[in-house]
Amino acid sequence: LPVIRAKNSPDYLPDANFYKVEAILRPWRIPQVSSALLKMGIRGVTVSDVRGFGAQGGSTERHAGSEFSEDKFVVKVKMEIVVSKDQVEEVIEKIIGEARTGEIGDGKIFLTPVADIIRVRTGERGEKAERMTGGRADMSSAGSSA
Ligand code: ATP
Ligand code: GLN
Repeated sequence: LPVIRAKNSPDYLPDANFYKVEAILRPWRIPQVSSALLKMGIRGVTVSDVRGFGAQGGSTERHAGSEFSEDKFVVKVKMEIVVSKDQVEEVIEKIIGEARTGEIGDGKIFLTPVADIIRVRTGERGEKAERMTGGRADMSSAGSSA
């Protein structure tokens, strides 16, 4: 997991059991991304309609010398997926695999350590709260047990 660095690294990132993968993507790519995530047992995803600017939406107004006008923002979708540490790289690879066109505006992924997960219905915390019905554990036990 090259993205998650050791504590003795100068660009130290706090180690955690869980991480939030936050991806800002092209809206029309979201169905492909979600179906790929579903296939790997990801059941918990939060999606928001957002607008932003990066290389794609920021080039013309950068030198305009006036205020940003709101209509320059590009419509995007933000996907937030909290997963255990060992799923992080696979989730990132799936997102890139399904969201990438190679053109400016494909988006960006931010990775954040998550201190804890609490399931509201049961009060469960940590790994128990992270585990989703139909998720990885269910998928692997479905094949082996009757
Ligand atoms: P239950 O408590 O009934 O077992 P759950 O806690 O597994 O359910 P929900 O309560 O259905 O899951 O989740 C509510 C919302 O929380 C979802 O619609 C989704 O937006 C968000 N969510 C749940 N799990 C995750 C996750 N791992 N990553 C990102 N968002 C999540
Ligand atoms: N790791 C969880 C599971 O396998 C799924 C996490 C998620 O859906 N975000 O049950």
